[in-house]
Order: sequence, then structure tokens, then C-alpha cells
Amino acid sequence: MKLILLGPPGAGKGTQAAMIVAEYKIPHLSTGDMLREAVANGTELGTKAKGFMDAGDLVTDELVIGIVKEKLAQDDCKAGFLLDGFPRTVEQAKALKQVFTDLEINDVKVVEVAVADDVLLERIKKRGESGSGRSDDSVEIASNRLKVYWEKTAPVSSFYKEEGQLIKIDGLGSIEEVKDRIKAALS
Ligand code: AMP
Repeated sequence: MKLILLGPPGAGKGTQAAMIVAEYKIPHLSTGDMLREAVANGTELGTKAKGFMDAGDLVTDELVIGIVKEKLAQDDCKAGFLLDGFPRTVEQAKALKQVFTDLEINDVKVVEVAVADDVLLERIKKRGESGSGRSDDSVEIASNRLKVYWEKTAPVSSFYKEEGQLIKIDGLGSIEEVKDRIKAALS
């Protein structure tokens, strides 16, 4: 199972990703997790990424493409993987296509968890109020993340649609319902 999971912030993508990797026993490649780890460890990558992350902006394509390429080349990704939070720009999607060609990775499925904007804003506000502990989770910054999503990441769906790879899933409903839709789409 080789999978790219797309979806706006607040769509429940992280939760779904965790369930999918457990179900299919594949590595979870989350660029957000990798970057947070780099920040926590104070690496050069982390130092470069932190400002962008704190503002809810995207880090540069160059920074993330490099780390994803490195991960995908590792042996544990041979049988499958789930890419979560990447690609976030059309540039990243194009670079990823080249990485797949170089590494001879085929049959990658792209699933998008789709949720309407007003629902997302509501969820983001709730998350902000309950304080999940993420430094980028204040409502203002979360709103910026949504804006960045529409400007830079939504076109990634169109890219995969044109490639004939996009599977769109309705992200409204319970976690279980959405999970079942994803599983049905993948089988
Ligand atoms: P996430 O946990 O996926 O929401 O990512 C948290 C933050 O990491 C994002 O708001 C971005 O600042 C940064 N980030 C994660 N993935 C990417 C990516 N593919 N491209 C650019 N920035 C990213």
C-alpha cells in the first residue's frame, strides 16, 4: 500500500493517517512530525523551519523535498508507505513524481479527505480553545494555515486529478465513518 493522504488542516487527516498505517502496517511519513522533531532536536533543518512553522506558513520546498526523498529511499518504504502532509505545493508534487521515477516506485494512490471551509474553521477554533499544545494552534495562526492551504496546497489536488490519480473522500462524519470510506476506496 503506497499512499499519499491529502486534506486541509482540521480535516482529521492525522487521525486517519494513524489508523491507516496501523491497518496496513506501513511507515508513516509525516513531514510535520519530521520537522517538529528537527525543531525539538535543534538541528540545522529545525532552525531553518521553526519560523515558518510558528507562523503557520510552509517551509521552503527545498527543505522538505530533501527529507522526503531520503526517507523514501530507505528499505522500510519498499513495501509501502503513507505520505502525510506532503506534497503541500505543486512544486513538491512534481519533485515527488521525479523521486518516484528515480526510485522506481509505482502504483501510488492519492486520497483526499475533503471538508468544507466553514466546518474546518469551526474545528480549528475548537482545537485552539482546548489547547492541544501545538505552538501553531492558536486560532489566528490556524486560519493562516487554512489560507496557505487554499493558495498553495489545494492546487495539488488538481495536479493529481489531472494525473488521473485522485480519490476524493467525504471527510464529514465520525472518525469511523471516514475511515471506512477510505478503506472502501483503497480496496
Ligand atoms: P503538519 O503537522 O503537517 O500540519 O505540519 C506542520 C507545519 O510544518 C506546517 O504548518 C508547515 O509549516 C510545515 N510543513 C509540514 N509539511 C510541509 C510541507 N510538505 N511543505 C512545507 N511545509 C510543511
